[in-house]
Amino acid sequence: MKIAFIGLGNMGGGMAANLVKAGHEVHAFDLSAEALARAAENGCATYTSVRDAVQGAEAVVSMLPNGKIVESVYTADVIGQAPTSALLLDCSTIDVATARSVADAAAAAGYAMVDAPVSGGIAAANGGTLTFMVGGDDDAFARAEPILSAMGKAVIHAGASGAGQAAKICNNMILGATMIATCEAFALAEKLGLDLQTFYDISSKASGQSWSMTSYCPVPGVGPQSPADNGYQGGFAAALMLKDLKLAMEAAEAAGANVPMGARAEELYEAFAAAGNGGMDFSGIIKSL
Ligand code: NAD
Repeated sequence: MKIAFIGLGNMGGGMAANLVKAGHEVHAFDLSAEALARAAENGCATYTSVRDAVQGAEAVVSMLPNGKIVESVYTADVIGQAPTSALLLDCSTIDVATARSVADAAAAAGYAMVDAPVSGGIAAANGGTLTFMVGGDDDAFARAEPILSAMGKAVIHAGASGAGQAAKICNNMILGATMIATCEAFALAEKLGLDLQTFYDISSKASGQSWSMTSYCPVPGVGPQSPADNGYQGGFAAALMLKDLKLAMEAAEAAGANVPMGARAEELYEAFAAAGNGGMDFSGIIKSL
């Protein structure tokens, strides 16, 4: 299949490489010459504009920083340039409202489009083990599924347009809040004189258990291997967690939802990032508690 791929950064680079490995002809574009050079090394054909990359495409996949960029790339250079038979798949994490409005603009011009944000970081993007949460109608999902499967281990239909983004930000709101709750419990346990491995052995089998504890323990040397064992480097950056929490707060405000824990998590990650820790793994917030 001829697939245009827009945005070959930390995530998109590995994803495009996995499409090539699956036998697709990938036509790549990124504003960064460095990202394009890496894509060429991974077997992508490279182009000097979005418009050139999407000519004749059967599908267009994007992995871009934010909603404003997604909107401008699709409305200016994809819609009306790619064949209307091309399926459009935006895998970026963006706000629900923009995901819906871009999909509406695509539909008005005759395209099928899905929002398909991912769970899993750079290692999962490189390894082809992402989880995709997909918003779009049944037909579009059926067409998206085999393309996304080449880049991930799970592809789940979340519902109509925008539902993939809704699932992603609700999930990450849980993650942000449970990580902070887990960190503060370990900090208190230590002050109360508990051995932290012993506390882990108890809580990981008791009702305090969560993914933040048993898959991504924020305490070095406790639980499975995690960024805590690597100086809080190389996992999911606190700045990206803050981005997702901000999207969750925007969505909650628009929907009139009461999210006090999510709001507090956003404040704490805001302060953590403002103190110069945006590039640190998000579990590093334990250092501030
Ligand atoms: P990144 O900054 O590494 O990559 C984004 C790429 O988009 C860059 O190479 C940039 O040059 C390119 N770009 C920007 N504007 C462009 C334009 N107009 N046309 C073409 N290319 C353009 O970011 P990333 O870490 O790869 O994240 C991408 C998306 O994935 C974000 O929405 C992020 O929230 C989401 N995400 C990231 C992670 C992670 O761990 N990094 C995990 C899950 C989801």
